[in-house]
Amino acid sequence: MQHTLDLLLQGFSKIQAQHTQSTLGDRSQYIGMSDIGKAVDCMRMAVADKAFPQKTHTMQGENALEHHLWFQRGHWFEQGITEALRATGVPLLSQLAIHARHGSVPIQAHLDLVMVPAPDQVHIVEVKSCETLPENAYAAHEMQVFGQAGLLYSCWGKPLFFGGSHTSKQGVTFPALVQHLLGIALPAKVQEVSITAEILAVSMKKVRIFGPYTPNKLMLGAAQNIATELWQHVQAVKAGHTPLATLPTAQGWHPLCEYCQWNADCPRFAGISMPELEQELLELQELKAERDTLVQRIQQREQRLKGIHKASGLGAEWIQTQTRRFKALHCEGKVSLDKEKLASALAEMLPEQTIESILLHAQKMGAPYQRLMVGTVN
Ligand code: SF4
Repeated sequence: MQHTLDLLLQGFSKIQAQHTQSTLGDRSQYIGMSDIGKAVDCMRMAVADKAFPQKTHTMQGENALEHHLWFQRGHWFEQGITEALRATGVPLLSQLAIHARHGSVPIQAHLDLVMVPAPDQVHIVEVKSCETLPENAYAAHEMQVFGQAGLLYSCWGKPLFFGGSHTSKQGVTFPALVQHLLGIALPAKVQEVSITAEILAVSMKKVRIFGPYTPNKLMLGAAQNIATELWQHVQAVKAGHTPLATLPTAQGWHPLCEYCQWNADCPRFAGISMPELEQELLELQELKAERDTLVQRIQQREQRLKGIHKASGLGAEWIQTQTRRFKALHCEGKVSLDKEKLASALAEMLPEQTIESILLHAQKMGAPYQRLMVGTVN
């Protein structure tokens, strides 16, 4: 019997390929809004994904399952959110597609959810699954929803919309699609409608809304310019005129790099090869994993003993074992200086510049140190 994890990996690869084909079609033939968002993060990765799509479905190795889980999680969340919103009875379309062009560049937007709560209101919801919710929306996601809202606005009365059971190869206008699928008569003029969009960030425990965003000509123009640049790079890479190594990469630390399929020879990680140190790095990784498990086990054990002491009702008294004793002690929280509160208290007595210089002088900087950065080569 084949190992379950291998089967899972195979299954995920198939599902991913089928899903991409059924919902997004041949992605090599257009630039999608998510490609534009990706290019905001890293042009090299966006170009490589577009120029060599087959690698996405054949990814192997340690990170492959993680990559697929990350990909699938997005679909699972999207399905759940769609079901929940549909259950409220709000009229909505899922998986709406807009097939547009900017000059010679084919651009497509695939919108997760579009609600039509009233005949003069259209609301786009872009679902994003996250490991942990960010405080602010990611620039890549914002570019994507600005592009979606902008295209919906600018293509409103053109036969460029596809979606739902409307499987014809011929597109229809947005009002015609909504009339056909939801039975709602929208105005023929987009100016008579309020279009808004939101990003719904979902993690395993929480959800957070970013927006609302409205159609913005400048942002749509920025998205179209990125699409053009990306399209030209893809054609040049495919034709062998531009090596991937010459394309701009993400700047600064970027969480995507760890999962990026193109990180093995990314110029961002340029250096020398020393395969003899592989074992040492693997052992370091194991040690860190052991440390994390140990920290967790210590916390669990402490929680349990605190619970036992509390349940015993002993208050400040100890519980003695054979060679050890313990009790749960009530401690005050740590005291720290609230810089904002201090600055606002001082603002009544001193000018702003003086306060800033006092705070600057009171800052303490630790000695510089070296940090070992370790990453995975995919
Ligand atoms: S490894 Fe990072 S910088 Fe390099 S292509 Fe991938 S995402 Fe871009």
